[in-house]
Amino acid sequence: MRLSRSLIPTLKENPAEAQIASHRLMLRAGLIRQQAAGIYAWLPAGQRVLRNIAQIVREEQDRAGAQEMLMPTIQSAELWRESRRYDAYGPEMLRIADRHDRELLYGPTNEEMITAIMRENVQSYRDLPQILYHIQWKFRDEMRPRFGVLRGREFLMKDGYSFDFNYEGAVTSYRRMMLAYMRTFRRLGVRAIPMRADTGPIGGDLSHEFHILASTGESAVFYDAAFEAIDLRGEQVSYDDSAELDAFFAHMTTLYAATDEKHDTEAWKAVPELRRREGRGIEVGQIFYFGSKYTKAMGFSVVGPDGARIHPEMGSYGIGVSRLAGAIIEANHDSAGIIWPAAVAPFRVAIVNLRQGDAETDALCELAYAKIGDSALYDDRHERAGMKFADADLMGHPWQLIVGPRGAARGRLELKERCSNERLELALEDALTKVMA
Ligand code: ATP
Ligand code: MG
Repeated sequence: MRLSRSLIPTLKENPAEAQIASHRLMLRAGLIRQQAAGIYAWLPAGQRVLRNIAQIVREEQDRAGAQEMLMPTIQSAELWRESRRYDAYGPEMLRIADRHDRELLYGPTNEEMITAIMRENVQSYRDLPQILYHIQWKFRDEMRPRFGVLRGREFLMKDGYSFDFNYEGAVTSYRRMMLAYMRTFRRLGVRAIPMRADTGPIGGDLSHEFHILASTGESAVFYDAAFEAIDLRGEQVSYDDSAELDAFFAHMTTLYAATDEKHDTEAWKAVPELRRREGRGIEVGQIFYFGSKYTKAMGFSVVGPDGARIHPEMGSYGIGVSRLAGAIIEANHDSAGIIWPAAVAPFRVAIVNLRQGDAETDALCELAYAKIGDSALYDDRHERAGMKFADADLMGHPWQLIVGPRGAARGRLELKERCSNERLELALEDALTKVMA
């Protein structure tokens, strides 16, 4: 993209309404603009970040055998009366009436809808297991929307749902999703720790939240310091080998890690005192196993192996896609701005033209821009060098190609890496090799 023709409205000053770094930086870097409390427009650079995060989430869900679908944002109240959650959900649910006075709502989650869809279309245990997911906007009328996209009212979530015909299958689905989550977070460039969690209003027996450690996090977390050193990736584990999955799950869950209020249990006291860590975390995902809670309440059963009808066992699996954009910045920034991990950066490289209008400088910039294509943001504005440097640092592109008249005359430019601040003088071809590696 050419910056001179792009809607990337960077701000020099810190916006007064932003209390934490990621909110400040998302506004200052021109990624988002608030439209109402907790409701944001994603401007072109912000939309590229959201799309990159969603794409990684999607690829890892697909790899785990989950099927992508798309359910609507608007749901009928009737559906939620079946599970008895319509009244129980309370004021966080945005309730809407249509012109015929039919009661609708803007979905805060989709357990009811997916169960109704399965009920209509699946009759036999032979059609299970299945895992389905979608990436869709949710609405929760949060009491205190704050910290920008970290706690919005409208937010983008990946939510997935597993259906198995027995307990063993449901546990395997749960473990598969935990593995998919660890791979997803690793690719996003963040370290998220799985923590034992309460099941809350969704109900059920088993749940883990995934937390990025950050001093600005809203959740209190309690964990064994040994977690900081262990490998969380699971790169070698096969989705189809249940022994490997079990070993991976055991590896992820033997060390103590839990959220809020869990610190006075026995298990916490068993952690050697020197290894007990209390900190703050940002919840970027949560997974639940809740058995037949919804399938029973909503009358979804299948014919089992012995001919008798059984209620399938369910799990649900959420990732906060829009929250992750803020959380990744919270974990990757300095006083000058954002430091994007390459996989989610809106642009891989900024081309900084230090003398717009100088023939040789312009020509070298144009050549670089033509070679890199869509993943470059070309700063072709008629602005001072100082402002261009500051904006490139603020926007946080992993690489900057800095082109000035002295170097351009010799066919050379400067390559700066944002995360290390390292600068190298190189010919264009050599710089491109490094940037594209
Ligand atoms: P929280 O405890 O932060 O309110 P939750 O436990 O109610 O979140 P879940 O129902 O587990 O949320 O939703 C799955 C994921 O969706 C969360 O892990 C989080 O990443 C994201 N999410 C939930 N609420 C919000 C919100 N208000 N704004 C942005 N993302 C959210
Ligand atoms: Mg949660």
